[in-house]
Amino acid sequence: MSVDWAAKRNAMVERQLRRRGIFDERVLEAMAGIARELFIAGEMRICAYDDGPVSIGHGQTISQPYMTALMAQSLELRGSETVLEVGAGSGYHAAVLAALAARVIAIELIPELAEQARSNLEAAGCGANIRVICGDGSLGFPAGAPYDAISVAAGAPKVPPALLEQLNDPGRLVIPVGDLDEQQLRVIVKNAGELTTQMSAVCRFVPLRGGAGWR
Ligand code: SAM
Repeated sequence: MSVDWAAKRNAMVERQLRRRGIFDERVLEAMAGIARELFIAGEMRICAYDDGPVSIGHGQTISQPYMTALMAQSLELRGSETVLEVGAGSGYHAAVLAALAARVIAIELIPELAEQARSNLEAAGCGANIRVICGDGSLGFPAGAPYDAISVAAGAPKVPPALLEQLNDPGRLVIPVGDLDEQQLRVIVKNAGELTTQMSAVCRFVPLRGGAGWR
């Protein structure tokens, strides 16, 4: 059976993103241009444009397209930024961020997923400005800091202090914070030494593990 992936992708952008209020044309264009199906292997690939998270193995998921778009939009990227993505998973969200910024460091705790993210990014032709690291992103990645933007794709019990330290000034951090069942997306803005927090959507992510995550 041949699948018209481009038609599915365009429908996702119109119905799941634009109609729900994603307005940043750069985000919409990035997600219209990246072959999301190449980030999901095997029998789950057919679900690549579903309106929800999809299993990528190891008990983890590729996030709902709307959530990826909302998080990317909230970072207000303009093209010159260095971005840290915590929770690389399939690599898809890193690919979207890399289309919007100058460079992305994507960190993933599970070695097999870090390797999968690297090969997915290569297959999709979007790895040129992305470095995938295997490690505990709840501690950030000091060697690449400071970051103009940080995106955390796993639910945290609290905002990891290392991420606030590694955030540039000015800089923006988006992170789901809450309990294991439900979190609220926080957009934290650092400017002139001050931190301000805006509350965004209620969401449900897999847990952030590691030193500053869930034990
Ligand atoms: N952004 C991913 C994508 O586009 O496919 C989806 C991320 S998935 C919802 C969350 C990921 O965070 C999982 O792959 C999980 O292994 C990873 N993770 C959890 N805790 C982590 C940590 N402390 N450091 C790095 N990655 C972590």
